[in-house]
Amino acid sequence: MKKILVTRKLLQSNEERLKTLYDVKLNSNDELYSQKKLIELSEGCDGILSALTDKLDEDTINKLPKSVKILSNFAVGFGNIDIEAAKKRNIVVTNTPEVLTDATAEIGILLILGACRRASEGIEGAKASNWKWSADYLIGKQLTGTRLGILGMGRIGKKIAKIAKSLGMVIHYHNRSKLNPDKEDGATYHKDLKSLLSVSDVLSVCCPASKETINLINKETLEYLPKGAVVTNVARGDIVDDEALIDALDRRKVYAVGLDVYKGEPNLNSGYLKHKSAFILPHLGSATKETRTAMANLAINNLEEFFKTGNCKNKIN
Ligand code: NAP
Repeated sequence: MKKILVTRKLLQSNEERLKTLYDVKLNSNDELYSQKKLIELSEGCDGILSALTDKLDEDTINKLPKSVKILSNFAVGFGNIDIEAAKKRNIVVTNTPEVLTDATAEIGILLILGACRRASEGIEGAKASNWKWSADYLIGKQLTGTRLGILGMGRIGKKIAKIAKSLGMVIHYHNRSKLNPDKEDGATYHKDLKSLLSVSDVLSVCCPASKETINLINKETLEYLPKGAVVTNVARGDIVDDEALIDALDRRKVYAVGLDVYKGEPNLNSGYLKHKSAFILPHLGSATKETRTAMANLAINNLEEFFKTGNCKNKIN
């Protein structure tokens, strides 16, 4: 029986399934393992079912026991893993695409609505019972007719575009490659990020964190946005230079932000907290029972496929 280290507590049905398939080391207290502890616990294991909270950098990967052949990441993003280092060690890395697209797109839309319609201020006012209706109380930005710029029109970006279109938004996008017209569904392609930003009344960041995209939204690129634009990020915190975005909020270059992800989670730059126009969530993208169950099942299927065939369709390295 293969031995698997599961680094975070999963939903009960997923842990039950794992127990029937493997000699499994579960994390019943859901402790956040240090890199040292993760290496120690993986002794004798054939694979690790990892999470985005595990920093599997080059040094950690090089210290993993030789028995570890697969890192099955419980996420579609894999910015927490040094893919090249894993490849050099002949360790296969897999992810969980598709199954979390809908849930994450829902949060992407919530960020757009929450930031445009001043939900943070509204919630504060309602809870304090100190608000008074008036014709100009908490006037926000209406989505109908507003241009939405999608940075990263992949699975999640396309689903956000579909919902936003039904709300009357006009969709623009930037990817490194243009989509076929049938996949574009009427959206306008911008070959250049700056061109996309210049038409983005609302920006939705949906691309992966990578060497190319770290701090892609920065002091210089933010200047291309129309004055009073709204910036939302449902992808990864590393893509945004926080100081630059907070400065843009201070200067009212940016009207509001909607954020689900942060650099150095769970901490976030305290500069956001002083802005009532910051609508912030604690990385809730895939957090529904259906999606978390499906993600863990896919991470387990990835282990199964790899141990049976030596390969896996969700292999990323
Ligand atoms: P995907 O289908 O692979 O889409 C990624 C898109 O980004 C593609 O259209 C890709 O197009 C584009 N892209 C990649 N690199 C780019 C670059 N350098 N410049 C411009 N565009 C670039 O991925 P997905 O399933 O939609 O997921 C996207 C990301 O969402 C994940 O990587 C993950 O980090 C994040 N996510 C967050 C949550 C959450 O809880 N908040 C949940 C799930 C996923 P080209 O290749 O043509 O450039």
